[in-house]
Amino acid sequence: MSISGLCQICESREAQERCTNCGTLACEKHYDRGKGLCADCAAQADPGQESDVDIHRF
Ligand SMILES: [Zn+2]
Ligand SMILES: [Zn+2]
Repeated sequence: MSISGLCQICESREAQERCTNCGTLACEKHYDRGKGLCADCAAQADPGQESDVDIHRF
């Protein structure tokens, strides 16, 4: 891919992908290809974590 810039998470590796949720540039170590999310969003979207009780209802 031809994304130019550094991973905005570690700021040391070259970014490979852009998060489809927040738009953060992420290197392959900080990008979840299966989910299409950066490490931050992937962690928040992890179904194993249900600590967010403060979610607003529709
Ligand atoms: Zn990184
Ligand atoms: Zn993200």
